[in-house]
Amino acid sequence: MKVAIIGAGFSGLCAAITLEKHGIFPDIFEIKEEVGDLFDCGHVLFSNLSPLTGDVVRYMTEEHGIIIRPDANIRKLTVFSEREQVSIHGQFGYFIQNSQHKPSISLQLKEQIKTPIHFNSKVSYEELLHEYSHVLVATAEPEEFTAKIGLFEKEKQGSLTWKNIKGNFDRYELTAWLDNNIAPKGYGFLIPYNSKEACLGISIPSKEHIGDGGLDHYWETFMERAEKNLQMSFHVPNKKYQANDRATGLCRYPRIGNTFFIGACYSSALPYIGAGYFTHMLTGVYAAQDLLGMGEFENLTKPIWKTYHQGIVARDVWSSFDNRDFDFIVKLVQRRLTKKAITGEYNLLSLITRLIKPSATFSKPPK
Ligand SMILES: Cc1cc2nc3c(=O)[nH]c(=O)nc-3n(C[C@H](O)[C@H](O)[C@H](O)COP(=O)(O)OP(=O)(O)OC[C@H]3O[C@@H](n4cnc5c(N)ncnc54)[C@H](O)[C@@H]3O)c2cc1C
Repeated sequence: MKVAIIGAGFSGLCAAITLEKHGIFPDIFEIKEEVGDLFDCGHVLFSNLSPLTGDVVRYMTEEHGIIIRPDANIRKLTVFSEREQVSIHGQFGYFIQNSQHKPSISLQLKEQIKTPIHFNSKVSYEELLHEYSHVLVATAEPEEFTAKIGLFEKEKQGSLTWKNIKGNFDRYELTAWLDNNIAPKGYGFLIPYNSKEACLGISIPSKEHIGDGGLDHYWETFMERAEKNLQMSFHVPNKKYQANDRATGLCRYPRIGNTFFIGACYSSALPYIGAGYFTHMLTGVYAAQDLLGMGEFENLTKPIWKTYHQGIVARDVWSSFDNRDFDFIVKLVQRRLTKKAITGEYNLLSLITRLIKPSATFSKPPK
């Protein structure tokens, strides 16, 4: 068996780690000169958005032998809506980084493989098919591969805007804003890197919500709100980052012959709210397990398929909320049941979907 992996990101590296543990050493092609993002952005890894696991870090180590060393635990969650505010304490998940310097998770994953990565390599998928018995497409660019051949069902395009700011922050606190005046149909967030630096951003799920004022208008309003709510003056550099028009969707046939579409090429519904990394890592593990005769990719990924559809339902309902609904939700967070769901005693996504749309039915994964 000769395996090629295109893309040394989360899914590609997790596939490589799993294959190597069982004696298969793939060829890995990466277009950049190093693994990890070219920019600094704060990331979260929620522990209980997926029905697949409780604690993500523990699960990846114990079930799959993949070690993740997060930056910090998220022990406090503060949410602001237009008129309400709530803070709750618990174990919500982790802050992680994915830049090209330590403690980036991509670098951590790279350290767990022996195979040297072919950097600066833009390979042609068609050529690889001639040379390799199996190809794993892990580029996070579904539009380049699966969409071209009509396999990717595109859902929406989202936009993320952020700045890395200075101030005084609680290292273990995640702050979020649910307010259509600052992030229509989306959310604002503050993720600390340490007690002095943080990532402040807004995520808006679709272009159509941005309106005439453009993103800059929302950004300015958000900055003012964040400083007022947190009673702090930030030091804000000029540099603003944007990840625009990231396609979200699902690959209808994630395996064609001996080609597997993994990571964001498999599916992405809620990557920006902390459900991307984990499910994408798992698709890499599952593709490798299929090659190793440890299960079938289509079966192993069924729970991810379900999570994807729950995510779409939750996001669509979320988009219908106005600020009064958000005020109501923030009040609801203080109630015990919701608090339990968020702190990990229930599966949050499943609960949200059932509460807001009890009649939701989900299409079946492909055979
Ligand atoms: C700004 C931003 C913030 C995010 N925040 C979060 C978060 O807080 N929590 C969360 O869970 N998820 C988050 N996500 C989503 C998360 O990044 C993805 O879920 C995850 O990275 C997808 O894993 P992947 O393996 O599919 O792709 P990636 O990890 O993106 O890796 C793809 C790799 O393929 C390489 N590549 C691309 N094209 C080619 C080619 N033609 N040939 C060779 N190599 C190629 C790329 O350079 C890259 O290294 C965020 C995404 C973005 C953009």
